[in-house]
Amino acid sequence: MVELEDGGRLHTRRVVLATGMRDELPQVPGLAELWGSLVVQCPFCHGHEMAGRPVAVLGADAAAHTAGIMRPVASEVVVLTDGTELPEDPGASVRSERVRRLERVGDQVRVVLAEGEPVVVAGIFVATTAVQATPFAEQLGLVLNPSGGVRVDEHGRTSRPGVYAAGDLAHVAALEAPVPSVVQALAAGSMAAGCVVADLVDGTRP
Ligand SMILES: Cc1cc2nc3c(=O)[nH]c(=O)nc-3n(C[C@H](O)[C@H](O)[C@H](O)COP(=O)(O)OP(=O)(O)OC[C@H]3O[C@@H](n4cnc5c(N)ncnc54)[C@H](O)[C@@H]3O)c2cc1C
Repeated sequence: MVELEDGGRLHTRRVVLATGMRDELPQVPGLAELWGSLVVQCPFCHGHEMAGRPVAVLGADAAAHTAGIMRPVASEVVVLTDGTELPEDPGASVRSERVRRLERVGDQVRVVLAEGEPVVVAGIFVATTAVQATPFAEQLGLVLNPSGGVRVDEHGRTSRPGVYAAGDLAHVAALEAPVPSVVQALAAGSMAAGCVVADLVDGTRP
């Protein structure tokens, strides 16, 4: 049974969950206001927009990985550790002062640090924590992967018969995490929808 916002109820034999993930952002003043424009998470999605210009990577954990992707694209990569120790050499210049706030300056971002000159860059890459955008997976008692994504098989079936999942909120156990992209989400949705029809026609699955 699906309960709707207006109080309506739907009874359905199959349901495909596709409500996505919510990005929890680092708690830095000014960051949330710039999210999705000058502060981004994915170098593949946004890297080309900053080609030939300086960029920053905020946070120590994924710094070497993101800096490695952006080095051939950007004119300069600076890692902002925000006072945290780096686990490895990021192969980029490093500013280790605490980050006080981010400010938009035209089409750039100024990073105000606890000490020293501010850093001005075309954009900032941050690592976010992706959490289920809705409580549906939990309400349905679905098995999750360690990433927090709903565990699905190659056809989009979850651990609960009749419930399928597609897009950012789900991935197969063989992957460490979902691959968040529009193309992947479309493909997974198409696969799950096809599987729903096939399972209904087949009739042997509950
Ligand atoms: C800043 C940013 C930039 C990105 N840039 C790119 C890019 O350039 N290229 C690319 O391929 N990918 C990009 N991505 C990733 C891409 O947006 C996602 O991978 C993709 O949107 C995932 O699709 P989805 O359908 O799984 O989830 P979503 O796109 O999040 O869609 C989920 C839908 O479910 C709806 N919903 C949520 N709760 C409920 C509810 N209770 N009832 C009914 N509906 C509900 C939402 O309103 C939403 O429409 C970007 C992501 C971010 C955050």
